[in-house]
Amino acid sequence: MKILFKNASVVSGRSCKNADILIEGEKILKVAPELNDHAEATIDLTGKLVFPGFIDAHTHFDLEVAGTVTADDFYTGTQAALAGGTTTVIDFATQNRGETLEEALVNWHKKADDKSSCDYAFHMAISDWNEQTSRDLPKMLEAGISTFKLYMTYDAMMLNDHALYQALKRIREVGGIAGVHCENSDVIKALVEEKRAAKENRVACHPETRPACLEAEAVSRLLTIAKLADTPVIIVHLTNRQALWNIKEAREQGQTVYAETCPQYLLMEDSVYYLPDFEGARYVIAPPLRKPEDQESLWKAVARNEIQTIATDHCSFTLKQKELGLQDFTKIPGGMPGVETRAILLYTYGVKENRITLEQMCRLLAENPARLYGMYPRKGVIAPGSDADLVILDPQFEGRIRAEQQLQNVDYAPFEGKKVKGRIETVYLRGTKVMENGGIVKPLTGTYIARKQSML
Ligand code: MN
Repeated sequence: MKILFKNASVVSGRSCKNADILIEGEKILKVAPELNDHAEATIDLTGKLVFPGFIDAHTHFDLEVAGTVTADDFYTGTQAALAGGTTTVIDFATQNRGETLEEALVNWHKKADDKSSCDYAFHMAISDWNEQTSRDLPKMLEAGISTFKLYMTYDAMMLNDHALYQALKRIREVGGIAGVHCENSDVIKALVEEKRAAKENRVACHPETRPACLEAEAVSRLLTIAKLADTPVIIVHLTNRQALWNIKEAREQGQTVYAETCPQYLLMEDSVYYLPDFEGARYVIAPPLRKPEDQESLWKAVARNEIQTIATDHCSFTLKQKELGLQDFTKIPGGMPGVETRAILLYTYGVKENRITLEQMCRLLAENPARLYGMYPRKGVIAPGSDADLVILDPQFEGRIRAEQQLQNVDYAPFEGKKVKGRIETVYLRGTKVMENGGIVKPLTGTYIARKQSML
């Protein structure tokens, strides 16, 4: 079946041009100013923006953590993703200690296969660095996993510097790259002990025990180790100015470093942790929200293309689940939903407030993640031969974010009541209309995407 989209404003990483788009089956056939080909359906998109399907390279669906499991699994999470214009998520398959990487991959396929409404791929989080893990890395690339996640904090998953160096070196040998969660685990523990000794148990103890300097220190240490190992790295969920300086300095020395941030770090600040009645728990994430001056630095870095991707770190818990930490702030499940609101927040507070251009928005949400994570040009661009993943945005709409309207399986919205401009009106996934006006019209259309090597 062929569908012809007429009079669209087609956004790419370099331009926004009026064009028609012809798709056939799952693929884009033609993109040109005046197409008059015969098609089974013709759709007029006058006044709408059309983006390539957005990619969220940082989600945690169906993850067991903090004695519970995330509120969103692949069934609800991928539907929420589509509602937000995201047609591909890259989730973190996670090796539990004692497991092989292949076992971890089998586990994640069980969670995602036949449950996903958008396309999905996996990073592999390495928690158990040993000889077998090292030997098994090439199998991951063969299975379409070209990026590995390493944690410098969280006892169950973290690698010490010795393992970090060895893992990075081996990842480079096999042609992969690494995304790293950077925080100084040992000093965080010392700060937590101080709070316990002082009998303090406020939500705000969370940010107070995970200060920006401990993220910046870990970024700096990671970059030193990655330089020795000669491995490109991605700093995931970058939050603060000092860490950003460390990245810029490493780049000036010729090191390849990519950076990801998330809407919450651009738009929310740490004062929310001081709200009364445990309300701040809903914003407990790691690294925590930072200061207004950090937001300003991050926005500038985004505008200067010093940050390559904006993902969400979607890791959702209900308010009831957050209460697991009522008696102990370290037991508040860490994470927030975000997959449903990422694009419209970036459109409203980035593009409409003239901090970034439409083309930059396209690069941050689609083209750069497609290239960095080895899916380009199948994903990330509206061009002949690419998957017909299309996001149609109505720029005229104005509204507010409301928890009661969301598809994600959470009973609050971090950005509740926040004004938004524009609306994701319709989403096509490989040629099929899957989302319209906030509702899923064709669920379970998602498929696994085997990724190639990074090419950013
Ligand atoms: Mn994460």
